[in-house]
Amino acid sequence: MNNIWLRLIGCGFIIISLLTVSTNVESLSTSDISFSSKEINCGGIILVTIKAAEQEKPQIIWMKKRIPLLYSRAETLWLGFIGADLKQKAGLYKCVVRSTFSGFKKRYDIRVKSKNYGVRKLKVPRTQVILNVHSLKRARREAAIIKSLWAVDYTLPKWKGNFIKPINGNIIGAFGKRSIINNLRRACHTGVDLKGNKGEPIKAINNGKVILVANHFFSGNSVYLDHGGGVISMYFHLNKILVKKGDNVRKGKVIGLLGETGRVTGPHLHWGVRINGARVNPLTLIELSKNLEE
Ligand SMILES: [Zn+2]
Repeated sequence: MNNIWLRLIGCGFIIISLLTVSTNVESLSTSDISFSSKEINCGGIILVTIKAAEQEKPQIIWMKKRIPLLYSRAETLWLGFIGADLKQKAGLYKCVVRSTFSGFKKRYDIRVKSKNYGVRKLKVPRTQVILNVHSLKRARREAAIIKSLWAVDYTLPKWKGNFIKPINGNIIGAFGKRSIINNLRRACHTGVDLKGNKGEPIKAINNGKVILVANHFFSGNSVYLDHGGGVISMYFHLNKILVKKGDNVRKGKVIGLLGETGRVTGPHLHWGVRINGARVNPLTLIELSKNLEE
C-alpha cells in the first residue's frame, strides 16, 4: 500500500472517530430530563431527574446559581432539587439544564405560585417579642451569621437516597403559617414544629456536614447541616448539641437532644430546610425523595 492509501485510511479513521463522538453528543436529550412538577407554590420543591451517562455531568442553573447534582450509578441518573422561597414573587422563572461535555442546553419555564398558608396564634413572654436594645443587637448579629450560610457556593451532594424525618413526632406547627404572637403580626413560620419530649434524640435527615452550631436568641441551641447540592437542614431549640462544626454526619446520626431553648412555648423541634437558599417545606423533601435509592 502506498502512502496515499495509508493517509486516506487514516482520514477515514478520524472521520469515523468524529462521527462516534458526535453520536455521543446527542446522548442527552430533552426526553432524558424530567421535573417532578413544572409549577410550585412558594415554599415548594421540585425534584429534577436527568438520565445521562456519568461523563455528561449535567448542570442546573436556577435563580442564577449552579446546582451541583448527585449521580446515582445504579440508575445512571443525575438528581437535584430546586426550591422556591416562601416569599418568592409569583411568576415564571427559568431553569436551565446544560452539559458542557456535549454542549446540550435547554431552558425550562417554572411557574411559582403564591400561596396563603394561613395564620397561627402564639403567646410568649413579652421580652421575647418586644426586644430590648441588647436583644435586638444580638438578634441582628445572629441573623447576619445565618444569612452568610446561604450566600456561599453550593457544595457537591453528600446526601443519598431518601431524606428521613429527624423525629417521629406529630406536626404541632405547620410550615408557612403567619405567626400572630401576643396579638402582633409577625414573620411566617419557615419550618415545621414537631412534637417530642425533652431529651428525645434528633437525627440527621441525610448525610451532611455540620456548618454551624450556635446558641441564638430566637432558635436557641441550633445545628445547621449542609447536605450538598444546595440542601441545608436546621434543627432548633435543642436541649443539647452532640456535634461540632466541621463534623461529617451520616443519615440517622443523633446530632442533638430535643429541648426548649430560645423563643418557644414548650419543648419541641423546629426543623427547617433551605434549598438553593430558599425556605421550603421540609416535609416536601421527604415526600419527593421517598423512592430514591441509596
Ligand atoms: Zn418553629
